[in-house]
Amino acid sequence: MKIGVLALQGAVAEHIRSIEAAGGEGVAVKRTEELQDLDGLIIPGGESTTIGKLMRKYGFIEAIRAFSEQGKPIFGTCAGLIVLAERIEGQEEAHLRLMDMTVARNAFGRQRESFETDLPVKGIDEPVRAVFIRAPLITEVSPSIDVLSTYNGEIVTARQGHLLASSYHPELTDDYRLHAYFLDMAKEAAAAKE
Ligand code: GLN
Repeated sequence: MKIGVLALQGAVAEHIRSIEAAGGEGVAVKRTEELQDLDGLIIPGGESTTIGKLMRKYGFIEAIRAFSEQGKPIFGTCAGLIVLAERIEGQEEAHLRLMDMTVARNAFGRQRESFETDLPVKGIDEPVRAVFIRAPLITEVSPSIDVLSTYNGEIVTARQGHLLASSYHPELTDDYRLHAYFLDMAKEAAAAKE
């Protein structure tokens, strides 16, 4: 499976490393043409406002929506989760608006700006090592969304069909199971096309 990592800003190399460790091929994506032959796309963490701006500038909003319409899996982590959401609290404009959920940015407050935890995730046997950095929370989901994990009662991992989102950074650890989970989603989508 060939997985692209949107390389406009943020933690790109770490995602490529994790995808490769999980048995896939990871490539950095800087231009929309590079989406063509991918089996899946990761939108990394960073700063969602910056990523959103650059996505508009380089034509990625339309291109990624078209990619999603083909049923190809997309995985957003942290800022990438914000970019996928239909609604962002306190902001007029959202970005890709692909996942039917509302998110709150920087939702953990100053004391908990950055922390690590072991997080049980539905579909993965043992808890996943999760790094939260100025992380967002999912505050509202439509019935089409499957909640895969919560932290202190708040939603931090969600799936809507071929779309996956996590509030945290799974790529900053040596735990590749969420990337393996995403690779499985890509394999399923590719098999469904045949
Ligand atoms: N706080 C960032 C935002 O709102 C996300 C942080 C991250 O990706 N680590 O976009």
